[in-house]
Amino acid sequence: MNSPTPSHALMDIAARPAAVMVRGSGSWLEDADGRRYLDFVQGWAVNCLGHAHPAITQALSEQAARLINPSPAFFNEVSLRFANRLAAAAGLDEVFLCNTGAEANEGAIKLARKWGRLHRHGAHEIITFKDGFHGRTIAAMSASGKPGWDTIFAPQVPGFPKATLNDLASVEALIGPQTVAVMLEPIQGEAGVQPATIEFLRALRALCDARGLLLILDEVQTGIGRTGTLFRYQAAGITPDILTLAKGIGGGVPLAALLARQSASCFSHGDQGGTYCGNPLMAAVGDAVLGIVNTPEFLAGVRERSAQLILGLNALVARFGLVGVRGAGLLLALELGEHYDAADLVLRAREAGLLLNAPRPHCLRLMPALNVSAEEVEQMLSILAILLQA
Ligand SMILES: *Cc1c(COP(=O)(O)O)cnc(C)c1O
Repeated sequence: MNSPTPSHALMDIAARPAAVMVRGSGSWLEDADGRRYLDFVQGWAVNCLGHAHPAITQALSEQAARLINPSPAFFNEVSLRFANRLAAAAGLDEVFLCNTGAEANEGAIKLARKWGRLHRHGAHEIITFKDGFHGRTIAAMSASGKPGWDTIFAPQVPGFPKATLNDLASVEALIGPQTVAVMLEPIQGEAGVQPATIEFLRALRALCDARGLLLILDEVQTGIGRTGTLFRYQAAGITPDILTLAKGIGGGVPLAALLARQSASCFSHGDQGGTYCGNPLMAAVGDAVLGIVNTPEFLAGVRERSAQLILGLNALVARFGLVGVRGAGLLLALELGEHYDAADLVLRAREAGLLLNAPRPHCLRLMPALNVSAEEVEQMLSILAILLQA
């Protein structure tokens, strides 16, 4: 027990401020004292349409009144429709719907291991990356390269050697007879928005093709319009063999997906499942979100706001002698430099009514709603300027 006088029964799993959130609308979140916050965290890049978007409210209420869960042992019309649209949009063939990013990644790991057993004489190793993040289940933590995660719940699940992002030789050096796949985030989110270069993504695709390995992309954070294209891999002109999605795909509700090419989609009956997997209530939200985000106008809007935000952040970089801006679309990091304590800045921002995230000691991460307005971007920039000045 970390707090001396606990006033609630929730496990103390994160340092949380005293504010209790009660409602939200678009880019604004409101606490029980009526304080309003301009939200550039959005549930950790989850609420791609902002808080309480009417399309999500409508999908939830209409579907809840019709059918919530007939069980995964039956087809339901919503998940059939949604899976078809999602597979077509991704350029992949088959979809397994689930609930969280970690669960989707567990499924990707299982699929690759099964494929290795069927086609690669039992090869099971998946090359992953230093500082990568794939979720908080034991296997997903083992696949992650977050410092300290190798010992905290030891022993790890074996079979996840770690390469270095943007270093192809480090990947090649790890390939052996037991290797079945390479798995990465096209932009490492939790590591502080560290992009894999377009060249690196293309080189990995070519390497996997040449060596008969599966390329698994974890687009849990980068997918569904976050980087200005529906999927980040589209910017590189490649397609993965296996893809995982969560966060933005549900617009705030627990929804995730595992997608695969036909040739990699090798689960037999009983290999994969879950009580809530493919339930029509969440699938209805995913279908509504995809319908809005996957239009040329919406994605152009993301790129416009991104350009505006990058311009404004670069002006702050010049004015305050900061290090620079990284990322793509509306997944951006502002590297502050040694002089600024990012955690302290996040705290002062919250007091000023602005929600930001600090994934690293000197780095801020910005992940607003994808439909954030030009005015809200300007408002965020001017609050940030005042905080950097102080
Ligand atoms: C958030 C995240 C996950 C884990 O998703 P959960 O829904 O929290 O389990 C996995 N991979 C990446 C890249 C993420 O950003």
